[in-house]
Amino acid sequence: MSAPHIPVERADFDQVIVPSFAPAAFIPVRGQGSRVWDQSGRELVDFAGGIAVNALGHAHPALVAALTEQAGKLWHISNIFTNEPALRLAKKLVAATFADRAFFCNSGAEANEAAFKLARRYAHDVHGPQKYEIISAINSFHGRTLFTVTVGGQPKYSDGFGPKIEGITHVPYNDLEALRAKMSERTCAVVLEPIQGESGVLPADQTYLEGVRELCNEHGALLIFDEVQTGMGRTGDLFAYMHSGVVPDILTNAKSLGGGFPIGAMLTTHEIAAHLSVGTHGTTYGGNPLACAVAETVVDIVNTPEVLEGVKQRHALFRTRLEAIGERYGVFRLVRGRGLLIGCVLSNAWKGKAAAFCAAAEREALMILQAGPDVLRLAPSLIIEQADIDEGLDRLERAVAALVQA
Ligand SMILES: *Cc1c(COP(=O)(O)O)cnc(C)c1O
Repeated sequence: MSAPHIPVERADFDQVIVPSFAPAAFIPVRGQGSRVWDQSGRELVDFAGGIAVNALGHAHPALVAALTEQAGKLWHISNIFTNEPALRLAKKLVAATFADRAFFCNSGAEANEAAFKLARRYAHDVHGPQKYEIISAINSFHGRTLFTVTVGGQPKYSDGFGPKIEGITHVPYNDLEALRAKMSERTCAVVLEPIQGESGVLPADQTYLEGVRELCNEHGALLIFDEVQTGMGRTGDLFAYMHSGVVPDILTNAKSLGGGFPIGAMLTTHEIAAHLSVGTHGTTYGGNPLACAVAETVVDIVNTPEVLEGVKQRHALFRTRLEAIGERYGVFRLVRGRGLLIGCVLSNAWKGKAAAFCAAAEREALMILQAGPDVLRLAPSLIIEQADIDEGLDRLERAVAALVQA
């Protein structure tokens, strides 16, 4: 017997939820593939994918089956015990990547928190207590805990919360000389997103990544790739680092990993992992059987040539049409990104107006994202069907036309 539902509406949000978000005017209640329905029964095309999370769309039958099967067996057991789904998921991630070991948690921020703590602990153990500086990129995003906002390169997220964590330096992204100037024997880690997601879908240059790897090697610093957004097939490779061939020492993933069920992972080598010995770090929910059963199924489906190749093909479909829309209405300066992490950079005439595009899209029953004020971001299901791509792009074109004509 389930509890009776009390009626709720969007206005309730402003009464009972902490006002740190400003959600859309409608409330989604159901999803199937790349379509979502709201309380009124209106159907929307989903190009947002829950912010690059719903890797297999909504209510994918294999994920529903994995979740419900595990739900009938064992939800939670704590890390006093291990569990089969966690062990299987770790084996699959280790087999598919540079890594030897995984640490599971519940979000991207927690995966990065673990990565930053591990990098500092490793440097402390191996080189001594003076080696604790972390260098990251201006405009980077690494999550919302105090450590991760401080490492993140956006003061608007880190100012006003009291003293920040010390020993963190920010340098311009894609600027190797700026990084070289800040590297020293005190640097314990360099943290980068292979494609800066939140701040505009901005890819790192190949030569930059190669140079960063070399600088890290020279200075005995660990290279951490934050693949919370780019990982698990998003870019058409299982992880974005595979495209560049530049291998990190620690990699974090979350978002697409659970396909909508909360989970995060930190991957690293035996040698580095050894420095998070028993008791040094922990989590109550991390690696719980429900999350791992779902994520294991996501990995099985995504890490196949069909799905990864399909992501690249879908990128081409999107790009051709987006470039045509951009040209026709003079709204985009360029379309960038890889796989199904796509950024449409607004032209000078529309700079700063990304929110207006998102609102116009919503009026046409299309969910899209912004990445900062100047970039529209698309992060749909990795298996979005051609009919949904076409319909969504038709709606986007209507939204753009309405905005331009207004
Ligand atoms: C979303 C994101 C995070 C934070 O993930 P949460 O699950 O919200 O904590 C960290 N890094 C990057 C690159 C992200 O895109």
